[in-house]
Amino acid sequence: MQVDSDCGQHCEFCAIPDVFAPRDRPLAELVAELERARAAGARVAMITGVDPLAHPAALELVAAVPALSFERLDLHGPGRRLADRAFAEQVVAAAPAELRVNLPLYGATAATHDAVVGRRGAFDEVLLALAHVVELVGPRQVTLTSVCTRRVLPELLAIDRLAEAHGVARLLRMPFPDSESRADRYFDVAPTMTEVASSLLASGARLSLVAGIAGMAPCVVVRAALERAPERRAEAVLVLGTLAELRRRGVLPTGARTPAVPCAHRATCALVPPCSGEVLGAYVARHGAAELVPPAVEVLSRSGRGP
Ligand code: SF4
Repeated sequence: MQVDSDCGQHCEFCAIPDVFAPRDRPLAELVAELERARAAGARVAMITGVDPLAHPAALELVAAVPALSFERLDLHGPGRRLADRAFAEQVVAAAPAELRVNLPLYGATAATHDAVVGRRGAFDEVLLALAHVVELVGPRQVTLTSVCTRRVLPELLAIDRLAEAHGVARLLRMPFPDSESRADRYFDVAPTMTEVASSLLASGARLSLVAGIAGMAPCVVVRAALERAPERRAEAVLVLGTLAELRRRGVLPTGARTPAVPCAHRATCALVPPCSGEVLGAYVARHGAAELVPPAVEVLSRSGRGP
């Protein structure tokens, strides 16, 4: 469910304020949407949007989730109001026993996060919100999310370590546009996949962290890893196997709002299924597809000697 109440921020990668005006939908309309989803058999409610918790009736909406016998609530959005301890406690009290909270963090320093979201004090707010939800629902129910823009990239590894220090999961994504317009902010802030993979690996990131970035093509990760350390071939094959299993189980994150196009190599590339065989049309429009090249078959065998 989308709850597009105003977030009061203007993230450098987000074109939503240019595409539509955030607004508070009537509570009755939101609850009716939950009722329809439940009647259709949904057991997990996902409330996302510009900033669901900024809705004036956010607590009533959250309370409607267990009232309708949903088993779980996945809460997304900037979560600014969770920095208020009393409000955070009210949300947790109103939600079903299984509550998962996703909080976005776009820098490991106040300077970077605040610059990305365009608001001073935002970093401190996220850290407060994080501390509150970790304490109230436990770290295993919390995920820190981030986006690999050029400005965020130098601090991604530190964001990952900050998440690890709090014991919470992390989800990194390549940027994606909010519209199909060439004026979308995506075109200014999106680095290439090769820039992201090479930079993170050069900083000492785990291969699994880089390969797990949503929207990252496996061929780019394999090439960047083996260029740096050819002896990591077996590790790369293991990571790709894990990715393929996650894709088979349908648990890899998606979320891009604009269309993907088939990779020119999808019919012959040995990295499908770890790869979806698709790439964002906007990515190809911005960066081209020259870096999307299937690795040689022998690269993918653990011995490196081919099948
Ligand atoms: S299908 Fe294309 S994008 Fe995917 S791994 Fe193969 S070459 Fe890369």
